[in-house]
Amino acid sequence: MGHAMPVSHVRVTGTERITPRTARVTFTGDALPRLMEDRPDQQMKLCLPREGRSLEEGLLPEQDAEDAYGMRWYEAFLAIPEPVRPWMRGFTVRSYDRAHNVMAVDFVLHGDGGPASRWGAAARPGDVLGMVGPSSLYARPLPTTSAGMLLAGDEAALPAIATVLEALPAGTRALVYAEVADAAEERELPTAAGGTEVRWVHRDRGGSLVAAVREAGADLDGVGAAWVAGEASAVRALRRHLVGERQLPRSAVEFSGYWRRALTQDDAPTEEDLAWAAERAADSG
Ligand SMILES: Cc1cc2nc3c(=O)[nH]c(=O)nc-3n(C[C@H](O)[C@H](O)[C@H](O)COP(=O)(O)OP(=O)(O)OC[C@H]3O[C@@H](n4cnc5c(N)ncnc54)[C@H](O)[C@@H]3O)c2cc1C
Repeated sequence: MGHAMPVSHVRVTGTERITPRTARVTFTGDALPRLMEDRPDQQMKLCLPREGRSLEEGLLPEQDAEDAYGMRWYEAFLAIPEPVRPWMRGFTVRSYDRAHNVMAVDFVLHGDGGPASRWGAAARPGDVLGMVGPSSLYARPLPTTSAGMLLAGDEAALPAIATVLEALPAGTRALVYAEVADAAEERELPTAAGGTEVRWVHRDRGGSLVAAVREAGADLDGVGAAWVAGEASAVRALRRHLVGERQLPRSAVEFSGYWRRALTQDDAPTEEDLAWAAERAADSG
């Protein structure tokens, strides 16, 4: 096939706290001009050095042109001795400025001891990370609807939601349900061409995304498709609700677990994760 998962390096050019618990980190890199595409929801993995280390040249395995889905690359990655093996975590391209070759990534500073959250809080210009992807092999088509589209997620999903809003066609009205820690975590979201309404849900006031969507009542009338991401069990509960109670067609609900409570991204998938991965694959045909 000759695709291969692209492996590259990116270098920090700046950081900014866009909210008290979100660090927007900007990166540049020689490979970015050919890797960045004009599509929403570009996902990739960042490879972060272990504490006190930097990402040495040659540490990450080379890509292999025949290794379309990166399986061999991943095996070689796992063969790096654990004390020096970088942490690998999923992220979203928030934006790419082609004129200046600058990519922005928003890091949730969840403060739960994760290496990505820790790195994002301390990032400095000049820091280097590895990047695996993005690749259009993993691009998931947005569900299409002539009616409204529900976008539901937590802080980790907001960067992707923002890019989806920017890409929605003029005929689609967007309704966003966003769960954040507190009012200070609210941020400006792009306005979709067909209009955007945002409902913020605050955890410090006892709110949760699942309860808010379940109790949305007539607010969801006219919603014909949904895009859901965030904490895995919340995402599953929402998908069940939207397909089961709200009767959205399964193919109209795009869902993705971005993180798992009390588990790191290095922990193996649970039985439930595997069952849902199979169901997701079946839905997307
Ligand atoms: C396709 C995809 C795109 C993503 N895009 C983004 C993005 O743009 N920005 C972003 O910040 N994250 C994004 N995420 C989520 C991110 O990969 C996870 O949150 C990841 O676990 C963070 O790594 P960590 O090293 O900080 O924590 P880990 O070492 O993985 O976990 C440590 C602890 O922190 C908890 N934890 C992890 N993430 C969160 C969280 N968000 N809120 C509260 N507690 C948490 C875990 O439950 C665990 O107890 C994305 C994930 C995927 C799969």
